[in-house]
Order: sequence, then structure tokens, then C-alpha cells
Amino acid sequence: MAKVGAPEKLITKDGLRLDGRRLDEPRPVKLEVGILKRADGSAYIEQGRNKILAAVYGPRELHPRHLQKPDTALVRCRYNMSPFSVPERRRPGPDRRTIEISKVAREAFEQAIFAEHYPRAGIDIFIEVLEADAGTRCAGITAASLALADAGIPMKDLVSAIAVGKIDGQVVLDLTGIEDNYGQTDMPVAMMPRRNEITLLQMDGHFTSEEFEQALELAIKGCKILYEKQREALKTKYGGP
Ligand code: UDP
Repeated sequence: MAKVGAPEKLITKDGLRLDGRRLDEPRPVKLEVGILKRADGSAYIEQGRNKILAAVYGPRELHPRHLQKPDTALVRCRYNMSPFSVPERRRPGPDRRTIEISKVAREAFEQAIFAEHYPRAGIDIFIEVLEADAGTRCAGITAASLALADAGIPMKDLVSAIAVGKIDGQVVLDLTGIEDNYGQTDMPVAMMPRRNEITLLQMDGHFTSEEFEQALELAIKGCKILYEKQREALKTKYGGP
């Protein structure tokens, strides 16, 4: 049964989505590196209607000291949504969803960061969602990856992330809020594009195995598009080839 307020269709007769995109087209993206003075590294992303800041502190001596690891740095991540980021005011503070997103985002980076270069240190990643319209964990990861690079933290590769999903029975790239709400499936993916290594894959809903293959291929394509934009943003800040 259709939900109250649901649009009749998410894909129009001419095969386009409600915002005019093709099925395999990502939302417009704007990236900026190094915008916060006091953080060691920072970045800002706009992806469609998402507006997200990422800040990185570290590597620095980890407190409390009992958390220090003798052979590696501890990577921590906090994903937070501001109360004004969504149509219905969010209660400030962590909830199950933000705790889960903080965990999966941290895991997406743990595989990329050479944490063993910094024994006993802490690396703190903050993702602050200012405006949300679906795909914020992915956009947050894309921005945080730039903030880590801006902080000079060595990584195997940048991490790029995007969600794929199913709406009106079709596999599409980079869901908007309305597509996420009224579609059938949402699958966020993060990866190190040059190494072809997936560092996050979650799924809300169902895909057939053929749809899954198609969706994964599309997510990889989307990550590669973002990867080029991330590299451009770093070049804009730091120059170089
Ligand atoms: N959302 C909301 N209120 C909340 C949490 C989420 O309105 O408390 C919206 C927000 O636009 C978010 C979207 O629902 O981007 C999808 O949330 P999901 O949990 O799928 O995470 P995301 O797609 O942002 O990574």
C-alpha cells in the first residue's frame, strides 16, 4: 500500500527521476578542503541538498591514556546531525542511528589509514550534518576523507562513498530523501577507488542477486566520479599534479 503523501511515481514516463536526473546520474557535488582554522584537517561537501562539514584532529596524544594502544593509533569517529538539519527537528545528542553511522564510518577509514605509524596517538574524525537529504553517511565519509588528507594523515587511498538503491523497481544512483523514503532499497557503499577495495557496504531493503550486481557496479562508478572530484578539491587547495 502506498504511504500517505507518497508521490505516485519516482521515475517519470521519460525515464527520468523527479529531480530530472538519469537513473545512473549522481547529484551535483561541491567540495572544499581546509575551511576550519582550528582543526588539523577539514572539508565541506554539498551533495544535492546535503550540507556537511568534516573535521579531523590528530594524530595527537590520546586521552584518557588507558585507551592508548602501544602499536597503533586509535581512530574515533562521531557523526552528528544538527537539530535543524531535517524537516522535523531532531533531538540533540546521539541516538541508535548516529551511533551506528559513527561506527561504520570509523570502520570505513580504519582500513585506509596507516594508523600503525602513530602508536599511542588518537585520530578523531567529526562529521557534522548541517542539512540532510539522504546519503549523509556517504557524503560525510567523502568529506571526512578529504579532512584526513588535509590533516596530513597517510592513507592507502582516499575513501569515496555513495548510495545506490531501488525505486519503482529500478536500480538508481545516489538517492534523494524522497527516493529513500518511498523507494524499496538503499545501499550505501564506501571504497578506496584506486585499490578497488570496498570499506563499507550496508543494505536497507532487498535486491535480487542480478540487481545487487548492477547496484554494486553503479556504486563503484559513482565512487570513481566522486574520487576525481576529491582529487580536484585537493589540487585546488594544495596545487600539484
Ligand atoms: N532523516 C531525518 N531524520 C532523522 C534521520 C534521518 O529526516 O532523524 C532523513 C535525512 O534526510 C537522512 C535520510 O532521512 O539523510 C536518510 O537517513 P538514513 O538513515 O538512510 O541515512 P543516510 O541516507 O543519510 O546515510
